Amino acid sequence: MERLCQDGAWVTIASFAGEGYLPGNCFAVLDDLLDWFCPNRFLTDRIEPTALKGDKGTKMESIEITPLNVGKVQFDLSEIYHLPADHELAGVVAHLPVFSYHISLPGRSVLVDAADFDPKAMHKSFLVPGYVQPPTLLQQMDSLGIAAEEVTDVVITHAHYDHFGALTKEVDGCLQPTFPSARHYLNVADWQPERFEERDQRTLGVVEQSSLLTFVEGSVDLQDGLSILPLPGETPGHQILHLSQSEGPGCYFAGDLYHHQLEFVDTRWNVIWADTTMMKASKETLMRRAGADGGFVYFTHMTGPYFVELAESAAGTVRSWQGGTR
Ligand SMILES: [Zn+2]
Repeated sequence: MERLCQDGAWVTIASFAGEGYLPGNCFAVLDDLLDWFCPNRFLTDRIEPTALKGDKGTKMESIEITPLNVGKVQFDLSEIYHLPADHELAGVVAHLPVFSYHISLPGRSVLVDAADFDPKAMHKSFLVPGYVQPPTLLQQMDSLGIAAEEVTDVVITHAHYDHFGALTKEVDGCLQPTFPSARHYLNVADWQPERFEERDQRTLGVVEQSSLLTFVEGSVDLQDGLSILPLPGETPGHQILHLSQSEGPGCYFAGDLYHHQLEFVDTRWNVIWADTTMMKASKETLMRRAGADGGFVYFTHMTGPYFVELAESAAGTVRSWQGGTR
């Protein structure tokens, strides 16, 4: 295991091939190890993904991807996966981050999800004891010089509140869209206003009433190498963003297709609220596509690295697990 945690540096958690992967008992300590080595890892950073490859020919000179982590929540893995008592991760409580991503490319300023972290609104079982909450999404964007008013696109991977809670802000007692110049994309299958709680109405509802919401059906080409792909399972309308380039690898912003390394390395496992059949098909689709084009996959809630690089190995499986961490 290597670890580097300076600004812009990468962390290689492990390399594996075939069925090797990370030993399961590493999962339990990985997050704590990273906290110890990298106490400020929730801070944002600007990343050029292809720096990983060490290959000048694939450098994405005009694209900048910024991970923005707004907080961590804890889950008992036994509960969210219904693990049997003898599973090596049974009883492990994992601390899952909540990432959004900003993508800067010529003429476009794109957000994948607009995450919010409100401890007061969460059940206390999800709160990490002693956790110090990082700045909000908007505060982090401000500090990085990313203007909310200049965001052109917000891709909402799915209609779970942790992915869209920052879509509005209160100004003089009124709710306003946080990204007033942006077209917001939500799959139509996740638009269920009859089920809205008040917080959904205060965010998604306001954006829709402001005529900033576009309902997506299936795949959509957003131009400039950006496209939305439907990968349902977490919700009926779960979708991801794909960024392709004429040169270099593709980037897949996978939303909640995965929540923990467990289900990434062993796709038989899914969180209990997901549709198992849809999840299986969606994960196979992503693995096939990202493996074939040597793509990077960015996660919302993964502990440890927030992205991985996928490529076909001789065995036809993922060959590496490396990435940055915050
Ligand atoms: Zn989520």
